[in-house]
Amino acid sequence: MSAECIFCKILNKELPATVVEESDDIIVIEDIAPKAPLHYLVIPKKHIYNVSKLEEEDAHLMGKMMLMAKKIAQKLPDPKAFGLIINNGAEAGQSVFHLHAHLVSGKKMTDL
Ligand code: 5GP
Ligand code: ZN
Repeated sequence: MSAECIFCKILNKELPATVVEESDDIIVIEDIAPKAPLHYLVIPKKHIYNVSKLEEEDAHLMGKMMLMAKKIAQKLPDPKAFGLIINNGAEAGQSVFHLHAHLVSGKKMTDL
């Protein structure tokens, strides 16, 4: 929990969000500024700054994040075609410093 963090505020219900799925330790919301026809954010409830700050103890949580992405993907119009992207560091496009994966689908993403 970080007082100034947008995603912690969403988790605390201090800010609104469209929740797609939720478990004990992960929440999935719609991105406020979608860059694909379907653009979700898979967010661990634990405040972790980014991938660079992951600890060994987070290994299980990261596995759960992947499985949550799989669960969401299974409900997509095309369940086999999606991107899962994690930006790490401002220079790589990270703008919210609470670890999250972008789950994007609905258009061709061949430029990665
Ligand atoms: P990043 O740039 O850190 O990889 O991704 C942050 C994402 O969070 C961006 O795609 C941005 O549109 C999204 N975002 C920023 N603020 C909010 C918000 O208040 N609500 C939601 N749902 N998404 C947000
Ligand atoms: Zn946070």
